[in-house]
Amino acid sequence: MTFAALGLIEPLQRTLATLGYQKPTPVQTEAIPAVLKGRDLMAAAQTGTGKTAAFALPLLQRLTLQGAKVASNSVRALVVVPTRELAEQVQQSVQTYAEGLPLRSYAVYGGVSINPQMMALRKGIDLLVATPGRLLDLYRQNAVRFDQLETLVLDEADRMLDLGFARELDELFSALPKKRQTLLFSATFSDVIRAMAGELLREPLSVEVSPRNAAAKSVRQWLVTVDKKRKSELFLHLLAERRWGQVLVFGKTRKGVDELESLLRQQGISADSIHGDKPQPARLRALERFKAGEVQVLVATDVAARGLDIHDLPLVVNLDLPIVAEDYVHRIGRTGRAGATGEAVSLVCADEVEQLAAIESMIRQVLPRHDEPDFIPDHRVPQTVLGGQILKKPKKPKQKLVPGSGAGAKGKVHLGNWFDGDDKPRVKAVRKGPGFAGGARKGPKKPG
Ligand code: AMP
Repeated sequence: MTFAALGLIEPLQRTLATLGYQKPTPVQTEAIPAVLKGRDLMAAAQTGTGKTAAFALPLLQRLTLQGAKVASNSVRALVVVPTRELAEQVQQSVQTYAEGLPLRSYAVYGGVSINPQMMALRKGIDLLVATPGRLLDLYRQNAVRFDQLETLVLDEADRMLDLGFARELDELFSALPKKRQTLLFSATFSDVIRAMAGELLREPLSVEVSPRNAAAKSVRQWLVTVDKKRKSELFLHLLAERRWGQVLVFGKTRKGVDELESLLRQQGISADSIHGDKPQPARLRALERFKAGEVQVLVATDVAARGLDIHDLPLVVNLDLPIVAEDYVHRIGRTGRAGATGEAVSLVCADEVEQLAAIESMIRQVLPRHDEPDFIPDHRVPQTVLGGQILKKPKKPKQKLVPGSGAGAKGKVHLGNWFDGDDKPRVKAVRKGPGFAGGARKGPKKPG
């Protein structure tokens, strides 16, 4: 399959060739022709599947060919995303793909001054990327209008709901023209997301690239048990002993993230961090420095977990397990991308056994355990078994559920990687109907 065969115009084909994209990914193969035709889309696709190009390329083409001039303060296509980082990242991709096209794109998000954003919107924007809160602020201040809007993209819809944006989204939906194209992307499809899709989408094409809640099989996953208070120490030990290169580390709290960052710096290791308390420019700078290889260890909370596009990242470490099991999949999705193999290591203490069981149940495998001799915990982490059960009595140190260093990661899972030959997307038309509109969504119900 080629991009030309999907119907993309020559300028876009040329740009993709320059970028070294040789062929479309599965989500692109399915989504591009449908979006070009103006169809609605519901796609289960995680970061790393090429989902951004899957919606951005056909949208840019439609905007170019329709050629309408965008009015002052208006937008023609709107991409709503959960986090500032993702907004920046999507905007960068859009700008790259739109090279040479007569279109204006821009990103708006909170945490930075609103004035430059108001100024930029005055000229009118063909494709606007936005986080929900800031977008509503701008709308309420009449800095953005939607009467020219033709397409709405909801990117990482599940994450937006997790972050508590349901009300903002409701308000936004009621401000948008009813006649429009809507594309909904989500890594997972809970009943709430399905209900939202039922309300928003019209006879969408449904594309599923990776099975629900599975983890990339190209990622070698294992864990080390440790006492809570010794986690940072264990991380430093593993970093030195295993000669780890660049590592992305996820912590639960902002405080924990800051503590590990300063500990690393004290040891002369280049480290930076990303979390919600940091001003946006500092977060972006940390990400850029990490991407450029200037920083060895980037420590982040889950704010940063989604959408980070870092090429060839070999290793992700969970200093703490995430509270929400699905975040585990998003975290480890930063590695093993684009056909590369990666490694994901979790440092697990006894308090976290329930989170561990929930994660294992979701990814349908028990994570191999590796004991680090100097760090055998006083508070043993109870053994878990497949199906998310916790064995009540902690087992003795030598009895491991899966012997060896964990390098095998035998559990069968998933196909999240587009390079897997057998990873054919499943495509089916979905009809709107009572089974869909489960009514689970909170907030006021909107007409139409
Ligand atoms: P995304 O899932 O949108 O975050 O994209 C993941 C990464 O894949 C990004 O770095 C894209 O630049 C890259 N990418 C997207 N589509 C292709 C393609 N068809 N061939 C090669 N790389 C791609």
